[in-house]
Amino acid sequence: MQTLDTVAAMRQASARFRADGLRIGFVPTMGFLHEGHRSLMRLLRPQVDRLVVSIYVNPLQFAPHEDFDVYPRDPEGDSAICEEEGADVIFMPPPAGDPTGLYPPGFQTRIHVPALDDGRLCAKSRPHFFEGVATVVYRLFQVVGCDMAAFGEKDFQQLTIIRRMVADLEMGIDIVGGPIIREDDGLAMSSRNAYLKGVDRQRAVSLSRGLRAMQGALADGVTDAAALIEVAKAELEVDALDYLEVVDKDSLAKVGEVTRESRAAIAAMVGRTRLIDNVALVPRGAGS
Ligand code: AMP
Repeated sequence: MQTLDTVAAMRQASARFRADGLRIGFVPTMGFLHEGHRSLMRLLRPQVDRLVVSIYVNPLQFAPHEDFDVYPRDPEGDSAICEEEGADVIFMPPPAGDPTGLYPPGFQTRIHVPALDDGRLCAKSRPHFFEGVATVVYRLFQVVGCDMAAFGEKDFQQLTIIRRMVADLEMGIDIVGGPIIREDDGLAMSSRNAYLKGVDRQRAVSLSRGLRAMQGALADGVTDAAALIEVAKAELEVDALDYLEVVDKDSLAKVGEVTRESRAAIAAMVGRTRLIDNVALVPRGAGS
């Protein structure tokens, strides 16, 4: 496994792979890797000749008051995990402003996917977040030159936006979505779970409990979105609810009644940690 830490080195490696006719798979991450990241590597590994994992805490997707400076980092642990999962390259670009990195001095361009971003779900409280995500993913796709890339359904809005960007810009990259990997008690795995201590760790489970309760109520025949949301709210032990919505799985527009497969999505603060989660809502007889 190679560790590459400049855009030029990554481009060169990618050009060599392509010259040899090799198919490149890519898993972009912000590091502090866990089973969720591993699952994406396992998803791609058998489908590609070379597997690239990037580790980059992307400043463009953090607001000034957010946790960029304290985001958990563990480059050695991450390297060991990538090695175990059979990655061929770890790409760890230098921080923004470094001339050899993703955002050299003077970098200005942003990628914006308005209909799936503005005012929807996470964008309400994090207005520049998805612009930051789409911009870094676009840059990474350019540099890594991948044929295929995997993203987790954990970040459902992100996955939807990346699919749209790749289709709109005819990038020719196969985007694969991986299911949410959870702790035994149901909490969706996240690098930010490292912030959760003591009772907050227990209260955090209430997000997935609430979403599961919605699935249960739907199975019992409740299809009204407002009623389903109340079912979930009754389970929540959070300090602040950012949103809890039932949305169309493709357009992310709010749904009033679950008549076809939809998505229930939540973001909430537990202590000072912002957590997100989502589940599919598949009405009886709709299949998936
Ligand atoms: P992050 O390092 O948080 O930016 O995540 C990198 C990739 O891993 C994204 O595509 C995430 O959606 C995915 N991911 C994070 N947590 C999970 C999880 N619990 N299950 C599945 N995929 C995940």
